[in-house]
Amino acid sequence: SSSLMAGKRGLIMGVANDRSIAWGIAQAVRAQGAQLGFTYVGDALLKRVRPLAEQAGSDLILPCDVTDEASIDAAFATVKERWGGLDFVVHAIAFSDKNELDGLYLNTTRANFARTMDISCYSFTAVAQRAVPLMQPGGSLLTLSYYGAEQVMPHYNVMGVAKAALESSVMYLANDLGPKGIRVNSISAGPIKTLAASGIGDFRFILKWNELNAPLRRNVTIQDVGNAALFLLSDLGGGVTGENLHVDAGYHTVGMAAVDSAAE
Ligand code: NAD
Repeated sequence: SSSLMAGKRGLIMGVANDRSIAWGIAQAVRAQGAQLGFTYVGDALLKRVRPLAEQAGSDLILPCDVTDEASIDAAFATVKERWGGLDFVVHAIAFSDKNELDGLYLNTTRANFARTMDISCYSFTAVAQRAVPLMQPGGSLLTLSYYGAEQVMPHYNVMGVAKAALESSVMYLANDLGPKGIRVNSISAGPIKTLAASGIGDFRFILKWNELNAPLRRNVTIQDVGNAALFLLSDLGGGVTGENLHVDAGYHTVGMAAVDSAAE
């Protein structure tokens, strides 16, 4: 079957380029018949997002800066005007000052703590507030997290704190919206080389470490994340809410470095 998402309309937030996790998700749901809209922030990204949106059969490309309430309002007002309703949202957005994704968490500034939490955590709640009034039972919200929320990962720092709060907000939102038949989940993706990831100190080392020590002995791809997102966004995931699904080649289950990697 190629119609798991037939008749479903979804807003994809966070495509920066063709390496973005949001793009992997967009491709997976599009292949199953979803109708898509895309948001972007900043004119510089529009020229990258436009051809991807067109490739995904979309003519709905909206500016949306999640730090700006009016900008989120305007994006969802346009979705309502164009579609009259909405079935799913993918929130694949995070930001922190690159200078603080290196060295000690201890040195996090108040200003960057607040900005990181605002963009990487609160924005999912802000988006949910606008999406829910457009949704029917069967609606689904999805965000992206990382294992640095659960355990200390080198250089992830304040972003780990923000992801912990994001994963907690997924549970609270799931409980609020469950009675309306709307599901809320996150995917905890293994490390993938994207624009956002390039800001994290020693990211190549983290990638290599995961490849050597994850049970599947490889890194995940945006296609892997897309396929898991398809499950959570489609009716296949109908019984799943408040969940944080690890798509990390099993890395989160491992308590010690693999013997074969230690031998190398
Ligand atoms: P990416 O750089 O492709 O995407 C990040 C997106 O966030 C960009 O499109 C950027 O424009 C957007 N963004 C930043 N500030 C914004 C704002 N104020 N308003 C609206 N959008 C804004 O990188 P990615 O790795 O695909 O990141 C997507 C999500 O996946 C993030 O939440 C990230 O933390 C998460 N994640 C990434 C990895 C990884 O290793 N790449 C692993 C786990 C989780």
